[in-house]
Amino acid sequence: MRELASIHKMGFRFLKMIHREDSAIIPLHLLELCLSLAQIYVGLFLTANLIDALLAGEYRSAIWQAGYLLGANLLLGLAGRLLQRRFRSLGTRIWLVFYVWLREKVFAMDYESMEKPEVAEKILFSERTSDMYGGLDTLLNHYCNIMRAILNIALSVSLVVHLCLARPQGGSGLVGSLADPAFSLLLVAALLLGMCACSFRTFTRFAAKQLEVFEAHTREEEEFNYMLNNVFGNEKAGKIIRIYSMEDMIMENTARFQGKSRAYFARMCDVGNAADNANNLVNSVFAVGAYLLAALKVVAGAVTVGAFTQYVGALNQFGSACFSLIAGHGELRKICTTMTDFLAFLDMENLHASGSIPVEKRDDGEYELAFENVSFRYPGSETFVLKNVDFKLRIKGKLAVVGRNGAGKTTFIKLLCRLYEPTEGRITLNGTDIRKYDEEEYRRIFGVVFQDFKLFAFPVWENVAAGYERQDHRLWTVLEQADAADLVRNMENGLDTWLYKNVEDGVEISGGEAQKLALARALYKDAPVVILDEPTAALDPKAEAEVYERFGQLVEGKTSIYISHRMSSCRFCDEIIVFQDGRIVERGSHEELFAAGGCYAEMWNAQAKYYNA
Ligand code: ADP
Repeated sequence: MRELASIHKMGFRFLKMIHREDSAIIPLHLLELCLSLAQIYVGLFLTANLIDALLAGEYRSAIWQAGYLLGANLLLGLAGRLLQRRFRSLGTRIWLVFYVWLREKVFAMDYESMEKPEVAEKILFSERTSDMYGGLDTLLNHYCNIMRAILNIALSVSLVVHLCLARPQGGSGLVGSLADPAFSLLLVAALLLGMCACSFRTFTRFAAKQLEVFEAHTREEEEFNYMLNNVFGNEKAGKIIRIYSMEDMIMENTARFQGKSRAYFARMCDVGNAADNANNLVNSVFAVGAYLLAALKVVAGAVTVGAFTQYVGALNQFGSACFSLIAGHGELRKICTTMTDFLAFLDMENLHASGSIPVEKRDDGEYELAFENVSFRYPGSETFVLKNVDFKLRIKGKLAVVGRNGAGKTTFIKLLCRLYEPTEGRITLNGTDIRKYDEEEYRRIFGVVFQDFKLFAFPVWENVAAGYERQDHRLWTVLEQADAADLVRNMENGLDTWLYKNVEDGVEISGGEAQKLALARALYKDAPVVILDEPTAALDPKAEAEVYERFGQLVEGKTSIYISHRMSSCRFCDEIIVFQDGRIVERGSHEELFAAGGCYAEMWNAQAKYYNA
């Protein structure tokens, strides 16, 4: 009982979400189910009248009844079908919106929460279960079937009780006693209870078996999903597969999965068939009992022959409604059980609360950022990656951040951009803890090109404008500044050319070209603080020197931060900080640090020969 309550609690939550998405879909379903029930019961009533009229030789009345029957069937059937067509398209929308909800939640999460491995797992599992069970639209259909079954049971039981209460016409003897209301009620109650108990038992047994088979298949399914997502449709994998001639091995793996899948579907069919057979048996026993009772009533003169068909119909409706009710619950249980992960994902709390103070809009770009004794370790890690970082960024200055791999440079930037929060200490903007600011507003002050920058399979202009309004003259200006204008001009559709071949027949671009577009994106944002994290890693040294020179001019009047392994970039900066094991170990100008002969000078000298410095 408790399980039933928790399933419906979950189910109603989904129904509320569906209703919020589209307020018409549930009322339309309810209307349709009322129409379908009306069609059944009006049909039963009119058929009974028609038979009675025929048996009484009242042919005129019989013709009217037949006309009503035809008209009612046509009208109700047509209205039902029109509704079904309407909500079938709405159903597809609900099915699709489920995927949108998943993404909306990802966007609403803070970056630190989003990075957790269980987030990706929950998304994958939610999508897979939705694909396998049909998702929220299927859940809605099951609820409608349950509702239909409940109404059907109420209507059929009231008709059956009516039948039971019909008194035999003066008949005594065995038939008369058997057709007596009290005995009929007893018989019907026994039949109904027996039928419910058997159906419930059959269903729970087979549903448990189905779930068992499904769960056993989950592992195999995951293996195949991996193959589909990471092996077949993946360009990088495509290269390795060809170079190492892995095709046969992969096809053998696929064939193995297909074999397992065939066995799984065969097992699922066997369980389904066994459940159907058991149900048919229960239904047949019940139907025989129902026919016998109705026949007894006719023989005893309690009801007419027409009413006999009506009652038998009602009894049959009761049988099938009971089964639908139990089956609907079973299906609901299956969906809700597999959707638990989806709800858990929606309920995941952000690790950090967002502040609400707006960031002051300043035309003078005077945004002062400072780290106050900041230490940081990544979630789930014991090691501090940044240790007691105390640093004030010079307004409109050019800062170079250097250090060996893993020294903490990128982490320093991620904290500055508020992708993570300090474990200790605080970061301030114009003296206020950045946690107090509205997150979106705070991020608006940064234009960043990350080391692992990402372009999307969207048109070029969307990649560069990145959510800001399209202004072609500005797009061309920043493309020019990032040395990517010729590249885009030579593309067939210019700014409207799609990148990559994932969606449209887009163009493939090299790592260096992609990096230039990413630089253009950072410039288009025109943010007061520009951060370039290894922005030139994919560029050759000449192009790199050009980018730095150009950027030096472009970020004039802005605060800029450069992270680079290439020490030559530091020459363009007013200040340099050197990271080592998460600490700032040196700071100063190029000349100062070079003269100090420390870590910086060592790194510079190691590279000087390549840069001819
Ligand atoms: P750098 O940019 O100087 O090369 P990073 O800031 O990227 O260094 O990395 C500093 C340290 O933090 C490294 O030891 C790295 O392994 C670790 N690290 C980076 N990202 C994560 C992460 N998401 N989770 C856990 N540890 C990380």
